[in-house]
Amino acid sequence: MSPFPRIAIVGAGPAGLLLACRLHQAGRPFTLYEADGAADARSQGGMLDLHVDTGQAALRSAGLFERFQQWARYEDQGMRLFDADGRLLLEDDGQAGDRPEIDRGHLRDLLLAALPANTVRWGHALQQAAFEGEQVELRFGNGHVQRHDLVVGADGAWSRLRPLLTGVRPLHAGITLYELSLPDVDRAHPQLAALVGHGTLIAKHGQTTLFAQRNAGAHVRVYASLPQVLGEGDLAPLLSREDLLQQFADWHPDLRRLIAEAGDAVRPWPIHMLPVGHQWTHRRSLTLVGDAAHLMPPAGEGANLALRDAADLADAVCSGAWEVAVPAHEQVMMARAAVAAASAQRLLVASSPTHLLEVLGGDPATA
Ligand SMILES: Cc1cc2nc3c(=O)[nH]c(=O)nc-3n(C[C@H](O)[C@H](O)[C@H](O)COP(=O)(O)OP(=O)(O)OC[C@H]3O[C@@H](n4cnc5c(N)ncnc54)[C@H](O)[C@@H]3O)c2cc1C
Repeated sequence: MSPFPRIAIVGAGPAGLLLACRLHQAGRPFTLYEADGAADARSQGGMLDLHVDTGQAALRSAGLFERFQQWARYEDQGMRLFDADGRLLLEDDGQAGDRPEIDRGHLRDLLLAALPANTVRWGHALQQAAFEGEQVELRFGNGHVQRHDLVVGADGAWSRLRPLLTGVRPLHAGITLYELSLPDVDRAHPQLAALVGHGTLIAKHGQTTLFAQRNAGAHVRVYASLPQVLGEGDLAPLLSREDLLQQFADWHPDLRRLIAEAGDAVRPWPIHMLPVGHQWTHRRSLTLVGDAAHLMPPAGEGANLALRDAADLADAVCSGAWEVAVPAHEQVMMARAAVAAASAQRLLVASSPTHLLEVLGGDPATA
């Protein structure tokens, strides 16, 4: 049996927190570093649907499924697909679904509540990392320096640890999502509430897409997805609500209202990805999970995979032979992620509502 390593987890997103929960439950020591200054330092963003074999399985493994059920919104699993002329092409009320939604903020609260207070070392933004013999040395923006036997990079899309394992950098995926908000939608925008329904609305014309998702508290988040060409280091252009309305000038008025009636704040999300099937050569003292390992365009899988990676890594680390089990886990994780990334890529390049319908495998709505 190998001695238990001195572990650092960098990043308290879904992957880092789930891993921390599992190690804590197993009575294993670890240190969890997070760049954010506090749990409420920034909004965690929209909602996630958790899948049985990945996100839900990971929460079950940590004994957190019951608590998840308290937040899970089974009633918001619906999906509607429109074309730009407002024709409904697919409608699924989601009643038979088993992918309940949860707000990201609720997921983070749920995971944090399962850890002792002060487990997360907030305000520790990793700036540099280097292999030092059998260990990895971490240097943080606040001056803290520490060496660990096993470092887990759970630090997301722009991981500072990934470059130690691979020279591959994320590339812009050719789209940027512009996020807008419709708070209090049932009362303030009842027609839009009815249009979106209980779940997600998708409307598509060519590579331009409009998403609207119902979140907790009758809050609808709208994402206008535009094709763009961004080079490495380029920032996505800042667009106003008026700019976006011009981009959707030819669309059906009901769909345009999702933008017209939203608040003024517009947040760009330039979408980046690692190559499908991205891999690295194993190093004993460093591994990656979640977006750090396999960043892909959003297709409903990223957070689910991140949670499952973390659960599987916890099994490997606690197995008694972590030096053998971690590389074996990496192989399984990479193969699983490659399948999901290929599927996300097919959704990304869908060039029409019909094409998207084929990819989703749906039947045209009879409505
Ligand atoms: C617009 C959009 C919509 C999405 N929708 C979905 C969806 O519906 N379903 C789904 O499953 N996935 C979705 N995803 C993907 C999902 O958000 C990610 O895959 C998931 O959050 C990855 O989890 P993670 O823990 O690996 O990384 P993250 O959630 O990115 O967490 C990384 C953590 O590391 C911290 N960190 C970063 N750098 C450092 C540093 N240098 N030092 C210390 N800490 C650091 C960050 O502050 C953060 O807390 C979406 C993504 C986007 C952009």
